[in-house]
Amino acid sequence: MRYIRGYMIRFSIVFSIVFLVIITGCGEINSDTQKKVLVSALPLIDSPDAREIPIKNTIIWHWENRFEKQEVHKIKQWLSVIDVAIIDTYGKYPFDMHFYIHRSKSGNEPVPWAHTTRGKDQGVHFHVNTTYSITEFLTDWTAQHEISHLSIPFVGKENTWFSEGYATYMQCQVMQVQGVLTSDDVKYKYATKLANCKQAYQSDLTVPQAADSLKKAWNYPALYWGGASFFWKLNAQYSSEIQKTLPRVIAEYVKCCRIGHRSPEEICETLDQITETKIASKLLNDYKTEPARLMFEEF
Ligand SMILES: [Zn+2]
Repeated sequence: MRYIRGYMIRFSIVFSIVFLVIITGCGEINSDTQKKVLVSALPLIDSPDAREIPIKNTIIWHWENRFEKQEVHKIKQWLSVIDVAIIDTYGKYPFDMHFYIHRSKSGNEPVPWAHTTRGKDQGVHFHVNTTYSITEFLTDWTAQHEISHLSIPFVGKENTWFSEGYATYMQCQVMQVQGVLTSDDVKYKYATKLANCKQAYQSDLTVPQAADSLKKAWNYPALYWGGASFFWKLNAQYSSEIQKTLPRVIAEYVKCCRIGHRSPEEICETLDQITETKIASKLLNDYKTEPARLMFEEF
């Protein structure tokens, strides 16, 4: 789930968040509901020349409101570009992605609201304001965040810190691959965002416990970036100890093991198997047992 910049300026958006939090406790919806499929597009292969075959995820489009032809073109253009960056980051997902497109007339950005749907189908609901330009859609972070969620399984509403931290960390990686953020931009963003939420974790509670309190207090930026600290540390340890980045390890995870796991513990055990280390499980255990303030000492 993306959180709303500007502290949720409109009642309708606030109502939507309240509704989703009540239902799920986090932004990921676990649903088997499949709505009408109006357009199925973006085949995997569209070139006879194998050297030039663009790999694409299989996207099932659901148009939840009436959109003009130009609007459909803009939305497809936007999400197709993001999909290229997703593929370059994670490899091809081993499932179809369902994109539900809703019209939004509120909000001061291209995608005022979005959330995933998990269960039998893996997908994202995008609420879009098509008055924004294609450039503005491409530089927004919502799609990179939501589609990143799908690269790991739904881990339950009790683990929001883990799932939102993961998507928050990885959205920057996807945006760097896409070319809308530089390596320096990403480093600066991590440094400033993690420093900004350090105060919220000056606690003897563990990070998951502190994050739960932040969620109840609607402090979504601190909740999301607190969780992102876990993945920042994981990437740092992989880089120094096995000379691999977290995105590279995750790409291996998506290829071999994406289907089936359900908990942060299981995901971390699998990452450990892939890396032939105990790094992820050890770090997760630290986050579950150590005071949050110790986890934030370096930020
Ligand atoms: Zn999210």
